[in-house]
Amino acid sequence: IATAQADYMRVIVQDVPESDYGDDDNIGVELLCVVRKLLKKIGRTVLVGDKVLVDKVDWIDRRAKIINVFDRVSEILEPPVANVDHLLILFSLDQPKIDPFTLTRFLVEAESIGIRVTIALNKCELVTQEEVESWKIRLRSWNYEPLVCSVGTKVGLDEIAFNLRNQTSVIVGPSGVGKSSLINILRSSYGGAIKHEEVFKPILGLMYAGQKKKNKKKWFEDQSVGEVSHRNGRGKHTTRNVTLLPLCGGGYLADTPGFNKHKLLKVTKQKLPLCFPEIRKMVEGGKCEFKNCSHLGVYGCAVTGDWERYHYYLQLLEEIRIDEESQ
Ligand code: GDP
Ligand code: ZN
Repeated sequence: IATAQADYMRVIVQDVPESDYGDDDNIGVELLCVVRKLLKKIGRTVLVGDKVLVDKVDWIDRRAKIINVFDRVSEILEPPVANVDHLLILFSLDQPKIDPFTLTRFLVEAESIGIRVTIALNKCELVTQEEVESWKIRLRSWNYEPLVCSVGTKVGLDEIAFNLRNQTSVIVGPSGVGKSSLINILRSSYGGAIKHEEVFKPILGLMYAGQKKKNKKKWFEDQSVGEVSHRNGRGKHTTRNVTLLPLCGGGYLADTPGFNKHKLLKVTKQKLPLCFPEIRKMVEGGKCEFKNCSHLGVYGCAVTGDWERYHYYLQLLEEIRIDEESQ
């Protein structure tokens, strides 16, 4: 299925070279594309969010061929999206309450990907203003400035939408905090338009080109949700379940929540300190005398132990050590 899905993708045009007969009117137009066979042969898959180069554009029927994929700046696996440049970590102030260690795990996992991270605290109507303030103060001491919102009572949503503009974002967080609700409200109230968006009708000759499937018609219907990436920019797409929704402020939002597991996947002992802004600040400010220091606060280390999340840092360090040794 994965290979089959890579055969047809919807691509949003972002840039048209002047020499082309296509003009600016074609920016934002969706094209249904086949993927050049050679790309598959050399193992270059096209992922949702990939920037691609298309050729053989038929502007009338809006068909084209993807002939190359640009290098990815980032890639996340859950959901599978390339070139994500922002993770919004959503927690709720109540039902369920914020567990600071779980939040730290999400932050570390997000920071380890190396892209911008913001925290949003949902369901603010369920707690007092004092509780909101105390969480703000607490998270500021972790070097994060949280956004506060309520999807239920539509508070703070403009600010969230503003925060998502002009980038490709994925919303992550534990279950029950309101991720799906937030995505839905962003889709309906802040969603942008794609020019001429509609379900593409299969054109037999092109649609089946290169396909060896027996039941071609049925196969196409299965794929009809399509996928999108674009010509020289990010796009929208459906691989398995993920689509990038265009936002009216510019940028895209994955239509499905991202990872919500508690296990740190790719964080190494060396990488862990870099995933804590508190440590990054201390190491920049003071100088740590040791190369590849684990920052355990020994004499000569720039990192002290007098910050709230220090024991979480030690605990995660120990978890990673046990994990690395068992491999
Ligand atoms: P997800 O698991 O993170 O995707 O969370 P859902 O979007 O499924 O929401 C979980 C529950 O929280 C649902 O019953 C929502 O209606 C509810 N919910 C979402 N946002 C709010 C909010 O701002 N306030 C309140 N009181 N409930 C909310
Ligand atoms: Zn150190």
